[in-house]
Amino acid sequence: MTEKRDYYDVLGISRNASDGDITKAFRSLARKYHPDKNPDDAEAEKKFKEVQEAFAILSNKDERRKYDTFGHSGPGSSPFGPGGFQGVNISLDDLFGGGFDGIFNQFFGSSRGRRRTKGDDLMYRHTVPFQVAMDGSEDEIEIEVLRKCNDCQGTGSMDPSGVRVCPNCEGRGRIERLERLGPFTQRSVSDCPSCNGSGKLISDPCKSCNGQGRSNQTKRVKFTIPPGVSSGVRLRMREYGGAPASDDGIPGDLYIEIEIQRHPWFERDSADLLMGLPVGFSDLALGTKIEIPHIDGENLVVKIGAGSQPGDTIEIRGRGLPLQGSKRRGSVMIVLKLDMPRKLSRDEKKRISSLSDILGSDHDGIEERIRDEAKKRRN
Ligand SMILES: [Zn+2]
Ligand SMILES: [Zn+2]
Repeated sequence: MTEKRDYYDVLGISRNASDGDITKAFRSLARKYHPDKNPDDAEAEKKFKEVQEAFAILSNKDERRKYDTFGHSGPGSSPFGPGGFQGVNISLDDLFGGGFDGIFNQFFGSSRGRRRTKGDDLMYRHTVPFQVAMDGSEDEIEIEVLRKCNDCQGTGSMDPSGVRVCPNCEGRGRIERLERLGPFTQRSVSDCPSCNGSGKLISDPCKSCNGQGRSNQTKRVKFTIPPGVSSGVRLRMREYGGAPASDDGIPGDLYIEIEIQRHPWFERDSADLLMGLPVGFSDLALGTKIEIPHIDGENLVVKIGAGSQPGDTIEIRGRGLPLQGSKRRGSVMIVLKLDMPRKLSRDEKKRISSLSDILGSDHDGIEERIRDEAKKRRN
């Protein structure tokens, strides 16, 4: 699969582009790649769809904010449903006329109802020792989150009778208006300026939250990290995010991204653990058994066969990390390294030199031996 392009790049706009810029960029690109203008051009068709998708996301306030925070790798499935974006039929006339706003908002129709009433999602990064990848963990973090104000029970008013429905938006919190952009008319929805989108006016605002009904509070959150977890995994804590703006809404979600510290010697390949084991010449030649403390609490016993070579790999099955969603575990893969001493005492030199009489350090036929070695490596 090819890497998905950044939506801002697709539309050729900067990350702080205004709604007007987004619409303008979309309108001009959509006209350029429109199928009516590019019949039977698969490349243009692809571009047309790509431009539509970018516009659908960036022209929607909530989807744009989500995309700005998480990029394409956002939590949950695609906002367009499991099949991803399928493109929409939009005529050249519609592109000129500007009546396409609703076409794209249809995708978020269901979330649009919730939209006003869901609080913000939060993301926290949480670093854990390597051991957690083996055992999992019960952890706790402290987060700063917008919660319902305790002093006014979320009403924003010192006195419950001091709250009345905003007359400007009749309590909806939003106002719709028709905007003229040159020759085009566009319907736009925005937060009501009189009540800041809350739909109510407060005569005597609560002092703790300035009438917002919500205030930043410190919360401790407990959560469970499953064994076998990898770096980059995001745990989703439903409704632990920001409080919604209106009373009937639901809080946003909290995402905790797990970062696992490095192990002093293991590298990780999903559930497998890889390590290098330095051993002496005689261990390789004669074979031996080496015990190493292991992260599952039981020593790892490495049996090195006589005549082993540097670079040989020994696999110990079932002693790697737990495979998520299964009772099985990965392997420990041990690569043998020849640990040659850099300095030798006079006595050691004498002993080794007598050894070389046995093993042979003859340089005769050296070319043949080099050739054999090369052949072995190529096979
Ligand atoms: Zn309050
Ligand atoms: Zn209002």
